[in-house]
Amino acid sequence: MSLVITDLHAQLEDGTEILKGVTLEIPAGEVHAIMGPNGSGKSTLSKVISGHEGYEVTAGSVTLDGEDILEMSIDERSRAGVFLAFQYPAEVPGVSNANFIRAALQARLPKGQELDAVAYYKSLYEKMDLLEMDRKFTARAVNEGFSGGEKKRNEILQMLMLEPKYCILDETDSGLDIDALKIVAKGVNAMRSTDRGMLLITHYQRLLDYIKPDVVHVMSAGRIVKTGGPELALELEEKGYDFLKELTVA
Ligand code: ADP
Ligand code: MG
Ligand code: MG
Repeated sequence: MSLVITDLHAQLEDGTEILKGVTLEIPAGEVHAIMGPNGSGKSTLSKVISGHEGYEVTAGSVTLDGEDILEMSIDERSRAGVFLAFQYPAEVPGVSNANFIRAALQARLPKGQELDAVAYYKSLYEKMDLLEMDRKFTARAVNEGFSGGEKKRNEILQMLMLEPKYCILDETDSGLDIDALKIVAKGVNAMRSTDRGMLLITHYQRLLDYIKPDVVHVMSAGRIVKTGGPELALELEEKGYDFLKELTVA
C-alpha cells in the first residue's frame, strides 16, 4: 500500500516544464516531508497529484495502492483517498461548514444510505475540540471571512472528518503563525496511522519541529535531489538551500 510517483514530468499550458522527473514513494504508515527552495515545484507536485487543471503530465506515473490516478478527475481522486490541504479553497457562500463536510461524507456512502446525523455531529464536535475550534464555527459559511489560521484549522477539520488514505499538506509560502502551526501539527499527528500515508510540503523547517517525519526529501528545480531522515531537515536549516546547488543536476 503506497502512493508511488515515478519519473513524473509536468508542464504548464505554455509548455514550460516544471516537474522534471520526480520519483517518490510514500508507503502507508509513513510521514514524508518535501522541503526545498521557493519555485522548485513543490506546490506543482501537490497539484498534479490531486488533479488540478493547468498542468499537463508529459511522462511518468502516479499510482495509489497500485491504481493509476492520473486519468481520474479531482473528485475521483478524492474518493480514491487523496486529500490535498492548504489550497486556500474558494469560499462556498451560503453553505455552512457543518453541511459542507456532511455533504462530502454523504457523497462517499453507497446510494440510498443515509449518514447518521447524531454520530456525525458527535464526531465533528470531538474533532473540533481537538482543534480548539468554537462551536459557532459550524454555522459559518465555508471560508467566508476566515482568517488564515481559521482556514488552516478548517482544512485540518475536513481532513480529520474525511479520513483520507493519503494526505498531502502544502504549507505554501505564506506560512503559519506558531499557534496555527501547533494546531496543524496536532491534527496531523492525530491522523498518523499504519494505514495512512502523509506528505508534508514545507519551505521551512519549523513545521517539522512539531511533526517528526519518517523521511525527508529535498526538491530543487523540479526534481528530488536528496532523501534522508529527519536530520536532513536540520541540516538544511543550518546550511540553507545554497548547498543544494552542488546537488542540482543541470
Ligand atoms: P514551490 O511550491 O516549490 O514554491 P511552485 O510549484 O509553486 O514551486 O512553482 C514552481 C515554478 O512554476 C515557479 O517558477 C512558478 O512560478 C511556476 N508556476 C507554477 N504554477 C504556475 C502557473 N499556474 N502559472 C505560471 N507559472 C507557474
Ligand atoms: Mg512558491
Ligand atoms: Mg509552494
